[in-house]
Order: sequence, then structure tokens, then C-alpha cells
Amino acid sequence: MFDLPSGLHDVRQRLLARPDALMLELGTGGELLVAQLRAWLSLSMLALPLANVLTGGKLGETLVGLLGVVLAIVMSQVWLALARSRGRYRWLTWATSTYDISLTTLVLALLAIESPATGLNSMVVWVFYLVAICLTTLRNDGRLTLFTGLLALAQYAGLALVVALASPPDRLVSVDYGTVTAANQLQRLMLIMLMTAVAAAVVYRMQRLVDMSGTDGLTGLPNRTWLVHRFPAMLGDIRASGTSLSACLIDLDYFKRINDEVGHLAGDRALRHVVDVLREHVQDDECLARLGGEEFAFLMRQPIGRAWERLEAMRRAVASRPFLPEPGHDPMRLTFSAGIASWPQDGADLSALLRCADARLHQAKREGRNRVMARDA
Ligand code: GH3
Ligand code: MG
Ligand code: MG
Repeated sequence: MFDLPSGLHDVRQRLLARPDALMLELGTGGELLVAQLRAWLSLSMLALPLANVLTGGKLGETLVGLLGVVLAIVMSQVWLALARSRGRYRWLTWATSTYDISLTTLVLALLAIESPATGLNSMVVWVFYLVAICLTTLRNDGRLTLFTGLLALAQYAGLALVVALASPPDRLVSVDYGTVTAANQLQRLMLIMLMTAVAAAVVYRMQRLVDMSGTDGLTGLPNRTWLVHRFPAMLGDIRASGTSLSACLIDLDYFKRINDEVGHLAGDRALRHVVDVLREHVQDDECLARLGGEEFAFLMRQPIGRAWERLEAMRRAVASRPFLPEPGHDPMRLTFSAGIASWPQDGADLSALLRCADARLHQAKREGRNRVMARDA
């Protein structure tokens, strides 16, 4: 079953590591959601200068407020347009988080110039630090959450220090917002840290869930769900780099007999044994996934002829490494049959490719098993 890692060491490692491709994929969807939220929020801020006019505020203040809101709306539309490119700009999440935190600091600084006590004690604007940290959880990247938390901490600590040191004591007191004290500023810094820790814990938990849902429990290989989610991005890379792609479908021969002869548990071990042998032949940029039962998909960036040679080598390796069900038992020879299809000749998407590979796999079974077919008979 799953070998569940635990402990703080694992938490730290996961949060500081670059998330895997599927997490990044999900994170780009999160970035789009955040960009849409930001756009709506910026539009709704138009109500602020309007309220200022209606409550008899000064015209100059209203115009400055309006200018600020219009700028925020324009920026939010820029971020939204970039987020719609769905993952083309890897730096986008970092830029938008930096923007959210810095905008909050800027507005607080403007408030503080007007009234230091308002800038450091009002809640309405300050709380956007927490919102920005919270929203990083939708991007599924622990490094981003920690970076955003630290940035908020550094910017607010700097602002509070500068405003407190530069303001005469009587301006740090306000009828509406109370007195600015070292204690209440420290509390704010603690709250930012607390929010960062909570957000990091959420990201960690989500990463674990995504890992589990995309991993086959018996062999540790990626499963069908993982492959289906990842394939469009994989194909995008292949298109951009102009390389070939071959999709292979592998099915173990007469596997039912293994279960019948040595039992289901030994059958499980036999599956793991075959996967161990196959893994030795899989390179970093290739993908071996368990689709279900004793059926696997193998994607490689090779033209079909070279893919056939590679798979033949794997077939010979599996056939030459018998499985030992238990000490004293006779070794059992395992073999597989496989069908290969290549993109784009045999299919434009994953299901078309696997359908074609499946037809060739069945042909291989019909012709006696323990063979690899790369062409229709
Ligand atoms: P062939 O593919 O060569 O036609 O024969 P087969 O016996 O492999 O055929 P089939 O695909 O019908 O059967 C696959 C068997 O694999 C059925 C099931 O008992 C076994 N199997 C599937 N998943 C697992 C598993 O996770 N563990 C074990 N022990 N057996 C499994
Ligand atoms: Mg089979
Ligand atoms: Mg099968």
C-alpha cells in the first residue's frame, strides 16, 4: 500500500520543492480563479470614491481615489489576460502575489501619510495581506505561499517601523483608530505569520491529496487520472519542441494464471516485479503509468521505429527475469504483449492513440503473445 511519508522534514521538503507537473497544472487554474476574483474586487472598489462623493468628501480626495481604483482595474485586467494563457508564464504567480502584497503596502503608506494612526491601526486595508496569503493556496505551490508570507512580513514591518519612527507621538493617536503601540504592531506581524503557516499547511495537505489521487497504490506508478490530466500539457511540449511521441499499451500475458497458481498476494508481488524491471528502462522525460489491472501505458518522445526497439528491449528484459513467488517455489516466467501508436499519424489525442495501440496489442495477443506490434496487420 501507500508508503505515507510523515513528519516535519517531509512537510519542509514538499513545501520548498518545485511542485510536480500536475500540481503546477492545477495551480494555473487557481491563478485564473485568483485573477478573476481580483478583477471583480477591483471593479467593486469603484464604490469607494462614489461613497466619498455621496458622503460629502473633498473633490481632490475623490479624484485621487478614483485614479487609484482605475489603475487597480487596469492592472487586474492585465493579470487576467496573462492568466488566461494557462501556464505559459511561469513567473506570473510570483508577480501577482508580489503585486497584491505591494499594493496593500502602498495603500497603507498613503493612508499613513495622511494619518499615521489610520495607516497602522485600520483593519480594512491591512486585512488584504491575509487575503493575498490565503489566495496563494489556490496556486498549489508551497514556495509561493512562504514567499508571499515573508514579503508581507518584511513590507509591513518596514512600513510600521518607518511610520512609527518618523511620526511625532501625538500623530500616533487617533480618536477613531486608537493608539499605535509596539504590542499591537507585533500582534499584526504574528497574525501574518500565523496565516502563512495555515496557508502552507493547506498547500501541503492538497499536495498530498493530489499525489494520492494520481498515484497507483500497488506499484507507485502514476495512474490513469494522472495521465489524462497531464497529457494535454505533455502534447503541448512535444508540439513546441517538434519531437516525436509514441504511446505504447502493455498488457501482461496470461496473468490470471499467476493468480490462480500462487494466489492474489503473490500476483500483486509479480506486478511489482514487472514494474521494477520496466522502470529500469524509463528515462526522466518519459512516462510509465498503470492504467488498471495488469495494463500499462508508456509514453516516450521517440518515433515509432525507435519506440518499437525500446519496447522490444523491455520485453526481452521482462521475459529474462523470472519472478520468484516465494523461496523454494519454481521461478515463473512473465511476458507481455504491446501495441504502439505514434502521434500524430495514428491519433491526435490520448484516447485516439490508446485506441490504436489497443488494436495493435490485441493483434499481438492473437499472434501468440510475448511480442510488440507497431503496425496494423
Ligand atoms: P491475456 O491478457 O494474455 O489475454 O491474459 P490475462 O490472464 O492477463 O487476461 P485478462 O486481462 O483477462 O486478466 C487479467 C487478470 O489480471 C485479471 C485479474 O485477476 C488480474 N489482475 C488485475 N489486476 C490485478 C491486481 O492488482 N493484482 C492481482 N494479483 N491481479 C490482478
Ligand atoms: Mg493480460
Ligand atoms: Mg488485461
